[in-house]
Amino acid sequence: MPTRRCTACRSESRQATLIRLVTIDGEGLAVDLRGRLPGRGAYACARAKCLLSALKGAAARSLRQRVRDSAPNDRLNEVEAGLLRLVREGLSLTARRQGLTIGLRETLQDLSSGPIVAAKDCSDRTRKMVDQSMRDVYVLGTQEELGQWSGRGPTGVLGLSGGPAARRLINDLARLCSLRASQMA
Ligand SMILES: [Zn+2]
Repeated sequence: MPTRRCTACRSESRQATLIRLVTIDGEGLAVDLRGRLPGRGAYACARAKCLLSALKGAAARSLRQRVRDSAPNDRLNEVEAGLLRLVREGLSLTARRQGLTIGLRETLQDLSSGPIVAAKDCSDRTRKMVDQSMRDVYVLGTQEELGQWSGRGPTGVLGLSGGPAARRLINDLARLCSLRASQMA
């Protein structure tokens, strides 16, 4: 799997877990969450500190252009909103491809090693059982929202299959939760 270096902290990570920045006509910086925009890219960890530093000028060297964002904090909020949108779209797509298990029981019975999404407002008992499953757990949204995003009724738990269909979704979930956690720190 390709790796890239964060322009801010200089640590190396899997490319899919980083945030890509590109220049538009050598003027401003644009965030390329899908990693598809043409041209030279600079990367930052999905952490507020690294992303802000990249936007404020650390990305310039990798891009070989003197670019900095004029409103980095606004840009950070856009990144978070963009990642949330990708996660919502990814969940509904994965649900349509039968790549999701819905609910605690069904998810724990599924033997794939894919991660679990747990609602912020799920019960303590549910949370404990999910944590004991030894799978990666991302806490996101309310039970009502998880129901909407997966196209079913409210649920506290969604399980993702470990297959390739969900791989991009898993990376987007990881980036979103990493960014949010870094903003709380
Ligand atoms: Zn970094």
